[in-house]
Amino acid sequence: MSTSTPTPPATIPHWIDGRPHEGSATRVGDVTNPATGRVTGQVVLADADDIEAAVASAKAASAAWAATSVSARTQVVFRFRELLNERKEELAAIITAEHGKVHSDAVGEVSRGQEVVEFACGIPHLLKGANSPQVSTGVDVHSIRQPLGVVGIISPFNFPAMVPMWFFPIAIAAGNAVVLKPSEKDPSASIWMARLWQEAGLPDGVFTVLQGDKVAVDGLLDHPDVASISFVGSTPIAEYVYERASRAGKRVQALGGAKNHMVVLPDADLDLAADAAVSAGYGSAGERCMAISVVVAVGDTGDELVRRIAERTTTLRIGDGTRDADMGPLVTGAHRDKVASYVDAGEAEGATLVVDGRKVDADGEQDGFWLGPTLFDHVQPSMSIYTDEIFGPVLCVVRAETYAEALDLVNANKYGNGTAIFTGNGGAARAFEQDVQVGMIGVNVPIPVPMAYYSFGGWKASLFGDTHAHGVEGVHFFTRGKVVTTRWPDPGTAGGLELAFPKNH
Ligand code: NAD
Repeated sequence: MSTSTPTPPATIPHWIDGRPHEGSATRVGDVTNPATGRVTGQVVLADADDIEAAVASAKAASAAWAATSVSARTQVVFRFRELLNERKEELAAIITAEHGKVHSDAVGEVSRGQEVVEFACGIPHLLKGANSPQVSTGVDVHSIRQPLGVVGIISPFNFPAMVPMWFFPIAIAAGNAVVLKPSEKDPSASIWMARLWQEAGLPDGVFTVLQGDKVAVDGLLDHPDVASISFVGSTPIAEYVYERASRAGKRVQALGGAKNHMVVLPDADLDLAADAAVSAGYGSAGERCMAISVVVAVGDTGDELVRRIAERTTTLRIGDGTRDADMGPLVTGAHRDKVASYVDAGEAEGATLVVDGRKVDADGEQDGFWLGPTLFDHVQPSMSIYTDEIFGPVLCVVRAETYAEALDLVNANKYGNGTAIFTGNGGAARAFEQDVQVGMIGVNVPIPVPMAYYSFGGWKASLFGDTHAHGVEGVHFFTRGKVVTTRWPDPGTAGGLELAFPKNH
């Protein structure tokens, strides 16, 4: 452990009308560097006037942007992609400084977000409508899709760049103006991306960042000029957002929490499975909605699998993400303490604590929010370490006698975000794919995050609304359809009264 000289906290502003904006609010929130525990920034927290200014600016910009040709819009998105690709290391450094994830992981996050930008560069094709000539004599039909106007995005702390990028490239390419409300825990990435949009040539007001907490969220949910809400965060807030914004007449997609199970069948390659469990359980300190938090060891695999997972945890380097570490700190001191309290609870409830992350020797400052990889065996479904989303580096092993028992366990869980099966049996994998009640499935792949041209989303308490993020579903979410029926009769050839319901001939 070492110490270094503190620098004074910087103010982290909104981004409104193409410039930083400190707003009128008197409230600020502390932003910390999780590896040092020090306050590095103070983010402004919006009040009603700031919300109004943000939405008004987006609304003023939205009509001209929607009327801009699809080619011109695509060129801006393409320039954003080029700049992002050149400068992703800068953005990754900002993520590490406020979130704590290690640099390579932060670069990976930016790259996965960039894939959605690349997908959005194909918007001319994605917005093409259908055309059916001569559906009736002299009558043609075609369809068009139009932008919604001002769209709201509310994002969580764990992917300050990638999760906003699940939505805004498509929203902007489709001709909408975006108001992004990032997590108040790591708000600087959004400001960096706003500057990049400006450099790419996006007109002022088309991308707005509104910093804040519940006040900003509620303001967007209720605002009559905000047409849709794309939310990602914990399940209770997702449910609240879905209900409140739907009641206000908005289109809503609200992605919630997760408890992702990895089923290991007796015929699995146990080294592959152990590597996957460690990578997916402890990567990003378990602060991923697609992290594996439960390993279901089927048949007689349990003892050997637990031994191999435990052995691998001893090789992990825990430390400051700017150094040569595999796993960084947790995002805040409060979150670290909450996760540690689950380790206490698991022990008290009688699970076998195989690896105890509370005793961690981290390569970082003493006041960093450290918690090492933690492994529990013989976890029962009634224990709080199983029932609750912990969102930290805590992996629970549950034993199941049979495949059917493992499947029932996954399907009984209230969440349905991601899951994986490890097996050498194609038939078992296929049955799992068909029968499991989960939105994203990996076969010998522990974190099956879909590519940008597929859509991301879970089932049950992991998603409220019916539209998943990005891919074709994203294009549909950020546009409204119209169908046009047309007839151009020669002058004098058509007419006459016809009061019966129109039928085709
Ligand atoms: P969170 O629910 O605390 O916060 C998410 C957003 O909601 C933030 O912008 C926050 O400011 C806002 N918010 C917080 N409390 C609020 C309240 N009472 N009223 C209105 N708005 C409020 O989530 P988090 O801790 O930032 O992120 C972690 C959670 O996000 C985990 O549950 C994780 O599973 C989930 N997540 C899900 C996905 C997914 O795709 N399903 C992806 C990433 C993260």
